[in-house]
Amino acid sequence: QGVPATTLDQVENILKPLDLTDDRYRKVMDLLKQNLDEGLHPDTHANANVKCFPTYVRSVPDGSENGDFLALDLGGTNFRVLLINLNGMEVTMESKIYIIPQHIMLGSGDQLFDHIADCIFKFMCDHKLHDRTLPLGFTFSFPCRQIGLNRAILTTWTKGFKCDGVEGRDIVELLHAAIQRRGDMKNVHCLAVINDTVGALMSCAHSDRNCAIGLILGTGTNACYIEELSSVKTWDGDNNDPKQVLINTEWGAFGNHGCLDFILTDFDRSVDKHSINPGKQIYEKMISGMYMGEIARLAIERLRKHNLLFEGEGSYHLSTRGRFYTKYVSEIEGDDVDNFTVTKQIFDELELASHTEQDCRLVRHVCSLVSKRAAYLASAGIACLLNKMARKEATVGVDGSLYRFHPFFHDLMMKKISQLIRPNLSFKLILSHDGSGKGAALVAAVAARLE
Ligand code: ADP
Repeated sequence: QGVPATTLDQVENILKPLDLTDDRYRKVMDLLKQNLDEGLHPDTHANANVKCFPTYVRSVPDGSENGDFLALDLGGTNFRVLLINLNGMEVTMESKIYIIPQHIMLGSGDQLFDHIADCIFKFMCDHKLHDRTLPLGFTFSFPCRQIGLNRAILTTWTKGFKCDGVEGRDIVELLHAAIQRRGDMKNVHCLAVINDTVGALMSCAHSDRNCAIGLILGTGTNACYIEELSSVKTWDGDNNDPKQVLINTEWGAFGNHGCLDFILTDFDRSVDKHSINPGKQIYEKMISGMYMGEIARLAIERLRKHNLLFEGEGSYHLSTRGRFYTKYVSEIEGDDVDNFTVTKQIFDELELASHTEQDCRLVRHVCSLVSKRAAYLASAGIACLLNKMARKEATVGVDGSLYRFHPFFHDLMMKKISQLIRPNLSFKLILSHDGSGKGAALVAAVAARLE
């Protein structure tokens, strides 16, 4: 509308790299399949980007899980302690969020686990649990090589955490050591470590027996799925029934060592370069909530510098890394295009002096390109897993604020997965509720039964 053709060309040139063809998404699927196979094979596992760690969780819940459990949820924005009661299909829980201050996120491992033990102690006092012996399930959502259900070696910190002396160590040992150091909580014992993907899968499977994939779209992205033991060449556990195990793919690291370079944009390269883990978690950096807003900001800034937005006039906020939050992307895309009330409010928050209707429309377009690419890349990943499992019907349990709050993520994924999977397969995407807590309790319940 009244925009000169040359301007449209310029905009198109800047944004084109964010718009990928189905051909590209199919290539992503093929590469991911290859990467998954490398992770599952002992000859290639060590150098594989996508580690495909066996979780030692062998089956989904059957509804007979009972009792009271403590759960910890660490691995993103919040740290939570939960008390969960399982009673057949009925699940009740109480939880409390505890802040992990930045200096602890970047401090020593002992400090981190002492802090966690303090939080458990406070929670138990507040809930009058100090004289109870409670099994604990720990949802620890960082890449871990598991060597047992309650033995998990952290391979590398992600998502803004970097505590000294934890990488290469068993986090349950560190937790138990911190509990020991306190001396006043001898009755807390961790029976199982899972990550949030397993939590999402388990909690959905509790009510939907077809659930075979757990997906996280939050601060980071990751997925787990049910694999046949015969395909898990790295498996060192028993071969009893059921002959399957949940595989934590750690697919966020897909694309490390250059295999996704063919779809990277300048914006992605800049996000990566300025992150605390350059060269790592490349797929995650194109998809998840920690980075999506920043990708949009970089694209908006590029347009602004070419005088294609805000008459070329920026602001301190708009030029600040990380200041264009991923939630803005959701809010702008969900805004009413007849008045752009929310979008204009965000522009005001960013102290952009002048903005027009045309600016609102273009920023919304940028946001939709960034989120569409993220949703489609995640879809390529899910389609790859669905094709690999080849179940006639499969449910995907999804958790994370990006999926939960973005107005179109679900619909975009439904559309793209349908296009990318084999025609004889069908699937559902359902929101997982309280996966990290409920899932940890369900796994701990099975472990407690076997003890
Ligand atoms: P975590 O993955 O850390 O456990 P969440 O699932 O809440 O926690 O994800 C947090 C991420 O979700 C943050 O990176 C944030 O940017 C993003 N986020 C929060 N609110 C929204 C929203 N309304 N729309 C899209 N993303 C959001």
